[in-house]
Amino acid sequence: MHLNSPLVPALPPFALPGQRGWLKMDALQPAGSFKHRGVGRLCSAKVAAGAKAIVCASGGNAGYAAAWAARALGVPAHIVVPESTGLPVREAIAALGAQVQVHGSVWDDAHAHAVRLADELGAAYVHPFDDPLLWDGHATLIDEVVAAGMRFDCVVLAVGGGGLLAGVIAGLRRNGLEHVPVIAAETVGAASLHESLKARERITLPAITSIAGTLGAKRVAQRAFELCFEYPVQSVTVTDGEAVDACLAFADAHRVLVEPACGAALAVPMVHRALFEQFKAPLIEVCGGVGVSLDTLNEWKGTAAWKTTPR
Ligand SMILES: *Cc1c(COP(=O)(O)O)cnc(C)c1O
Repeated sequence: MHLNSPLVPALPPFALPGQRGWLKMDALQPAGSFKHRGVGRLCSAKVAAGAKAIVCASGGNAGYAAAWAARALGVPAHIVVPESTGLPVREAIAALGAQVQVHGSVWDDAHAHAVRLADELGAAYVHPFDDPLLWDGHATLIDEVVAAGMRFDCVVLAVGGGGLLAGVIAGLRRNGLEHVPVIAAETVGAASLHESLKARERITLPAITSIAGTLGAKRVAQRAFELCFEYPVQSVTVTDGEAVDACLAFADAHRVLVEPACGAALAVPMVHRALFEQFKAPLIEVCGGVGVSLDTLNEWKGTAAWKTTPR
């Protein structure tokens, strides 16, 4: 269902001097993000098992991918988004023929509602980050890089609920690359994994205060948390301002727009340079996101207060 996305050499500042870095361009998936992989896999499996409709709660991208998959599979989709999901994204989901409902202020509220809705409708619920089959779908991005014969010595990715993290680690393991470390980036205010690791227990954030709504799960998947104790994962945070700056630098360098959620990973070379420069061939997962436009990027850029948010 998804594409084998382009694998391109990273240009400065996404590769530092002396590095040969790579970008896996999942921003170019038809559904605009890596979610196309796992959500597509999960929707296909549910429909093959007899599901007549699909329900998904999403900050935007999983819902967009679910709407895309449902249309391809010929079943109706009901997507529940929180109020924080922008109007253009709601409209984009509806334009694929899905029913869009708005419920609650953050993803966790939308999720609770969507689980009830799926039950009422007798539809299959597609979880946007916590399902082994979804991780299996995300893992294909590593399969593709390996099949392309590219060598890399770390993977940089963004973490929301931890589905991408779990999928990438599954992909590394099934390709015999379990020695390759992962740098897991979150924005301050949506750092449910980082705060859990600090506390050494899986915590629930009191609120989401980051603009990276796509990273805004108050609590990460149990599996994603556990993996950090059995796999070399380095958890880092960046501010919203740093994530937005990285999106702008990325647009300038690579001429592609991505959400601040993706900007969290793209900011790592600049913000966590000492860590990043330990690697010779970093692979950055350009996870993408449909919740971005020239206007929103410029608006975010103008919000100077973020520049001073402490990390
Ligand atoms: C979903 C998403 C994330 C976070 O992925 P998780 O699997 O929830 O950790 C990051 N960036 C983008 C663009 C996304 O759509």
